[in-house]
Amino acid sequence: MGSACCHHCVLKRVMPLRRSFQVLCHNLGRAVGACVLGVLFFPAAGHSEELPAGVEPLSGRWVIRTHDEAGSKLDKPRYLYRDLVGKEEQYVDLFSYHMRDSNGDGTDEVRISHEPGSDTHPAGFLIIRSQGYPNHPTAIFPNSGNPNTIQVQDFTFRLPLEPRLSATTTRLPMGPIGTALNGVVFFNPFEQGGMNAVEGYAEVWLDACCGHPQQTGVYHYHKYPSCVKSPFQDDGKQHSPIIGFAWDGFPVHGPYETAGIMAHQSDAHASPDLALDACNGHFDSSRGYHYHATPGRFPYILGGYRGVVEPANNRGLRRAGSGVIENNAQGKSVIDRAISAVRPGAVAPGGKRTVTIELDPGTGNSPPVAGGNAGQIPEGAPAWVQIGPYEATAISRQGNVVTITLEIPEDATLGVLLDCHLEFEGAARGGRNRVYKRSDVLRVVE
Ligand SMILES: [Zn+2]
Ligand SMILES: [Zn+2]
Repeated sequence: MGSACCHHCVLKRVMPLRRSFQVLCHNLGRAVGACVLGVLFFPAAGHSEELPAGVEPLSGRWVIRTHDEAGSKLDKPRYLYRDLVGKEEQYVDLFSYHMRDSNGDGTDEVRISHEPGSDTHPAGFLIIRSQGYPNHPTAIFPNSGNPNTIQVQDFTFRLPLEPRLSATTTRLPMGPIGTALNGVVFFNPFEQGGMNAVEGYAEVWLDACCGHPQQTGVYHYHKYPSCVKSPFQDDGKQHSPIIGFAWDGFPVHGPYETAGIMAHQSDAHASPDLALDACNGHFDSSRGYHYHATPGRFPYILGGYRGVVEPANNRGLRRAGSGVIENNAQGKSVIDRAISAVRPGAVAPGGKRTVTIELDPGTGNSPPVAGGNAGQIPEGAPAWVQIGPYEATAISRQGNVVTITLEIPEDATLGVLLDCHLEFEGAARGGRNRVYKRSDVLRVVE
């Protein structure tokens, strides 16, 4: 209990800091501007043109900033990626925002370097050393739905700097299939045992940030991680920014393809060329091949690898076959829908919002499965409520209605359905928190 609680506290402490940083960067707009951590992005118009002083080409879309604008050498070089932001190509600093020690153990969660190439990827690798540790609020683990504890990892990932398409699709292994920009890994849609982790039987085990730890403490996302923002806002008015990378080196973007249209809806739009393939990727002339997270739609993050994977990233890749995965969602949640409604279903960004959560005590009982959540909804107010990345700042309960206050930042991700997670302190066997969950209950809209 003690360390889990501390975990919450540390994260709470750092959240306001990160939010203000984010707003500051966003307000700089597309102009070249100095952020707390240096220039976040600068135009890449005609990328054959000269790079600014202190920036050197690396390979593919990657460049490296070794010196700041004043000419002083940086202690940590910045790795920048050429991406289309709005209508202009920009070199974007995807990682600096996450290169910090938010769990206070003396090591930054994410550390970046680069290495020379191999036979399969001669152009070299971006090296990501990661603690795999969430830098956003999470549920307290273990809890009534998950016996595991989130543990700091010592991952080393190798992203090909120049990803190459493969003649065959590589099948996704179990375990890490890619990494979010915060160093937390993506998993395929299945739990050990082969069940869909996002829909049906197992969906309740993910916390409000769409993640949970497995047996060795690896916290991972099975679907669009609503709590990971790249340093850039996603207001749904343009192509979503990059949120991570797959083990073939191709980027994973958030859900939007263009204003108000998610990538998985593109086939219904005027541009059938943009329909996502079974790997959840597509091409455009500026970005090349890239994947999209698809909230509410299998395979949610990746369906397979279109590119040549770097096998060092997951032992399972050496014997991975070919082909894409198929949905096998079945069965009902092992926990009944104890949350019968969340109202309103949409809130505006930029202020305190009141939300009510209706509990249905008649459904609080669950089938007696191993590790299940047997027992009725406890009396009293929950100790913790989180919807997507937003922690409730006030919680009260009258009868079966829980009323919470959420502080929604000005730069919230818009339009994506968020999950709701409730915890009753020490209400489950062994003093663990009793957790209840309902997916896709609230979105932030202007
Ligand atoms: Zn899982
Ligand atoms: Zn796209």
